[in-house]
Amino acid sequence: TRVLLTGGSGFIAAHILDILLRRGYSVRITVRSKDKAQKLLDAHSEYQGKLDYVIVPDIAEPHCFDKAVKSDPPFDAILHTASPFSYGVTNPIKELVEPAIQGTISILQATKKYAPGVKRIIITSSFAAIADATRGNNPGKVYSEDDWNPVLREEGLSDIFNAYRVSKKFAEKEAWDFVENENPNFSIVTINPPLVVGPPKTYVSSLDGLNPSNQRTLNFIRGKFKDKLPHSGVFLWADVRDVAEAHVIALEKEAAGGKRFFVSSETNFSNQMIADIIKKEFPQYATRLPEEREPNNGLPEEGCYAANNTRSKEVLGMTYRKLNESIVDLVKALQEMGLDV
Ligand code: NDP
Repeated sequence: TRVLLTGGSGFIAAHILDILLRRGYSVRITVRSKDKAQKLLDAHSEYQGKLDYVIVPDIAEPHCFDKAVKSDPPFDAILHTASPFSYGVTNPIKELVEPAIQGTISILQATKKYAPGVKRIIITSSFAAIADATRGNNPGKVYSEDDWNPVLREEGLSDIFNAYRVSKKFAEKEAWDFVENENPNFSIVTINPPLVVGPPKTYVSSLDGLNPSNQRTLNFIRGKFKDKLPHSGVFLWADVRDVAEAHVIALEKEAAGGKRFFVSSETNFSNQMIADIIKKEFPQYATRLPEEREPNNGLPEEGCYAANNTRSKEVLGMTYRKLNESIVDLVKALQEMGLDV
């Protein structure tokens, strides 16, 4: 089976690539630079002939995937993960919203036009397309695939967090609308994870360029929040290896077609819980974290929303790692990448 994986050098995509190659798929990745492609080729040198790449420098460009989707032998499926995830941008509409939405439109259009053999497209969406941020901690609410973030497109201008929410919601919406309006040969699946944490693949990551969702753990170890932990921001999470697995199963299981999957741990997490794990498992870093613990394990005292991940368990057969394993393996990877002990 031959598949195309967009954004192949990303935190989640690098794990997806690993799983695909291990399972015998022939994979083309899209990346932004030759340098990143080479790192991935080198890390998988035993899969010679099973891995190739096409450079797509900017997914905000219309028709950017036209070349990438054309292949001989042709593609059977596509995994579209490329989308900007950064809170360090200066123009959120140009740098977050437009590439996310245009990238999704481009992959769908290119596939319909040039890759008629594709039967399924897996799209990485987000909890950001599900949760209603205006409801805050939303005690008692159990989010599921039935929920859509009500954020309006113009609210993407208000702040960077809303811009990210808008980018993910409207990119996902484009995909469902495309299927409905264009009736293509392929079915789509969306994978909607909350905060994704866990070990990055060290050959495509660096401490300086660490993906934003692991950044908080790095900051804690570096002593940036020695006096007080920051607000957790979101209280649901999933391990990167589980999220990657969900993408691959979603392309293999017929029954997954046409569905959204809320791929999330069912238990809440908080920054306090991450700090506790670091202190217990890596006592050498304990002095870099606040001595005093937040009340209620760092979770809101009035309670907060929860996740219903039943569909992912029933259709994809997902099981979920515990936070302890994710954080321990993440810290070990950070150490491998040069974190001072
Ligand atoms: P990364 O930033 O590591 O991956 C994003 C990928 O998209 C990278 O390969 C990046 O290329 C590529 N990309 C970004 N912008 C562009 C652009 N303008 N043109 C071309 N390529 C681009 O983050 P993740 O792995 O975490 O994110 C992957 C997907 O998962 C995204 O769709 C994200 O929204 C989603 N997601 C992530 C969550 C998380 O907590 N990490 C939570 C929920 C959803 P390059 O490597 O060159 O920067």
